[in-house]
Amino acid sequence: MILIIYIFLLGLIIGSFLNVVVYRLPEKESIIKPGSHCPQCNTKLKAIDLIPVVSFVINGGKCRYCGASISWQYPFVELLTAFFFLGAYLKFGLSVELFIILLLLSALIVISFIDYQYMIIPNVITYSGIIIGLLSAIFFDYISIFSSLLGIVIPALILLVIALIFKGGMGMGDVKLASMLGAFLGTTYTLAGIFIGSLLGSIIGLSLMVLGVLDRKDRIPFGPFICFGAVIMIFFGEFLINWYVSLFL
Ligand SMILES: [Zn+2]
Repeated sequence: MILIIYIFLLGLIIGSFLNVVVYRLPEKESIIKPGSHCPQCNTKLKAIDLIPVVSFVINGGKCRYCGASISWQYPFVELLTAFFFLGAYLKFGLSVELFIILLLLSALIVISFIDYQYMIIPNVITYSGIIIGLLSAIFFDYISIFSSLLGIVIPALILLVIALIFKGGMGMGDVKLASMLGAFLGTTYTLAGIFIGSLLGSIIGLSLMVLGVLDRKDRIPFGPFICFGAVIMIFFGEFLINWYVSLFL
């Protein structure tokens, strides 16, 4: 029971670090230095201002020094990370697999929020993800090396073909993201995740067009949807695949 609380707190702390990565990586700022500061008034933030979620709530979502509003994204990312960490612990227990999945989930959160804001997926994350996924397959036995290698190649090739046929929808960032997911999850889970993400993306995209929020020319970042599908497969993959197979038996 006490471990559950620790994992949740760890998720909040890692989530607060992921916020820094989301905020600084696209601006090419250092992730370590300088310390956190208010983007509005540049005041250096003290430890008490940096407690995940708590500081945000106590200060009413505003900077304590200049009163500028702080984005809801900060506590949201912290809570999302904490709940993902908790869910992964409940599913995988204390294991090597848990550690690998926590790394992957953290990468997916960073990719989603950067793609959502900047419409890019940083190569530094996808490339290192492909290498870490493959290395994990080599050193630990949660997935075979062969599945990991196929996972790196096949889903990315399929997305590449789609990207070349339907220009504009998907970018090379999405293709590399598919490679990274495949390195960790293998071909089947990755393709299923991409399918779930595309379905949800199409439903949301079409609804926003019908509601007049978006028009045909607006681009919607595809990365967050792929990441969402991958998270669904990480947590409910066996269940969904068994259910799908049972439809044909
Ligand atoms: Zn401020």
